Amino acid sequence: MRKYPKKITFAKARKDALTAKQKLRKVEEALLGSGICYCISCGKPNHWSAMDGGHFIPSTIRITELMDDDIYPQCKHCNGFLEGNSIAYEFNLRKKIGNDRVDRLIALRMASGGSDKHYALLSDEDKRLLVQKKTIPDYVQITKYCKARTKALIREKGIA
Ligand SMILES: [Zn+2]
Repeated sequence: MRKYPKKITFAKARKDALTAKQKLRKVEEALLGSGICYCISCGKPNHWSAMDGGHFIPSTIRITELMDDDIYPQCKHCNGFLEGNSIAYEFNLRKKIGNDRVDRLIALRMASGGSDKHYALLSDEDKRLLVQKKTIPDYVQITKYCKARTKALIREKGIA
């Protein structure tokens, strides 16, 4: 059976990649042995498989949609009921990865929306990222990589 039919739509390829990446991010953040993650917004612990992979910059924004810094385990209450609990998300993300990396995500988002002020803040590499549009094969490749890496990590960490 062919896993990716030739006629996969862009939307499906993108959705698959996002789902695979979100799962990988939860597994990456999970503690060895127990598989416990802490919600980026409220700090509540749970098994990675019971958490969401929550985006800081919404997943609808293409430029940051698959970045490690933009995806952390989040409890379903914060991600769903509290619609991302984004104030607490930002506060804790700044503590976790530092202001520069959070500000970069915000600048990428704003620049992709047309802000010249934020565009000026970006590195040359990030400016190049802005004009690169992912294609169906790109997304299919990302999905494949994330699934394989997730499987290996679950085994290595003993967190099935
Ligand atoms: Zn939470």
